[in-house]
Amino acid sequence: MENSSRHWIPETEYIRIFREKILIWFERNKRNYPWRNTRDPFRVLIAEMMLRRTKADQVKEVYRQLFTEYPDVRALAKAKDKKLEKILYHLGLKWRMPAFSLLARELKEKYQCRVPETREELKTLPGVGEYVAGAVLSIAYNKKEWIVDSNIVRLFKRYFGINTSKEGRRDEHVIEMARVYSSGRNSKEANLAILDFTALICTPRNQKCSLCPLAGFCHYYSLNKEKEEHLCPE
Ligand code: SF4
Repeated sequence: MENSSRHWIPETEYIRIFREKILIWFERNKRNYPWRNTRDPFRVLIAEMMLRRTKADQVKEVYRQLFTEYPDVRALAKAKDKKLEKILYHLGLKWRMPAFSLLARELKEKYQCRVPETREELKTLPGVGEYVAGAVLSIAYNKKEWIVDSNIVRLFKRYFGINTSKEGRRDEHVIEMARVYSSGRNSKEANLAILDFTALICTPRNQKCSLCPLAGFCHYYSLNKEKEEHLCPE
């Protein structure tokens, strides 16, 4: 397909090479967070809800406090609103606070305190959208499931030179690329790797092209090389 098309999807092999480079980078640069070291899907689910629009380092302490106070679904389902709000306050975004206790109650009542294992079921839970559902399936259940957030869209746009709509994470061709990206070996690692890569290297502003292992094949870099080298001289 033509590169100029809005719905251009790169060759599978091209996406595979991209994934392998990010995985190599990840081996040396992965971030360590408590929700990456647990096998409890409920903790992963809560962490992913906290991480929406909030930086991971900001979530760490809130995550620790929340699970010290409410270690499982039953405990969180019984949480008093005021006490819960006090813990979650540091995440900002007041509108999402009620979702945590609503979610725990729904898991208790509908799923006998278990976290569902399908995208469809997960998306029926309060506060759970496409991204959180995919992250839980990938990170907690180690399934070959795709994730897309605005950072991943930005990386796809820069690296592959694709076009997207304003809501790029909902575009079919972007989702298809994420599907291909996460369908290979080490799917969970690949998803964690792209999250870290977009947080540390291909950031919204001041991206670190001079340190980037993808620079040699990056569409954005090839167009802005001189400017980027000027900005990042090392
Ligand atoms: Fe992002 Fe720059 Fe790397 Fe391209 S070269 S992927 S723009 S950090």
